[in-house]
Amino acid sequence: MSDTLTEPRIRIADPETDDNEVAHIVKREAANAGYIGQEMIEALCGFKWIPNKNPENLPICRKCMYILELYRNGELN
Ligand SMILES: [Zn+2]
Repeated sequence: MSDTLTEPRIRIADPETDDNEVAHIVKREAANAGYIGQEMIEALCGFKWIPNKNPENLPICRKCMYILELYRNGELN
């Protein structure tokens, strides 16, 4: 498994579901850019936002989880 992939989970309110906050999964590179530069980053599921919080015991975005499994299974690069 590549360690350049995933792991940071960033808290964000997902407007597509409801008012509940979920933790999206992003690639490490993207997470670093977002934290350091306050730039807009993209989660595995395609959701884009400027991260402003750290995840804390939030449910993981289902789309991100699904895509992460594809990466782990080698179906995506
Ligand atoms: Zn997501």
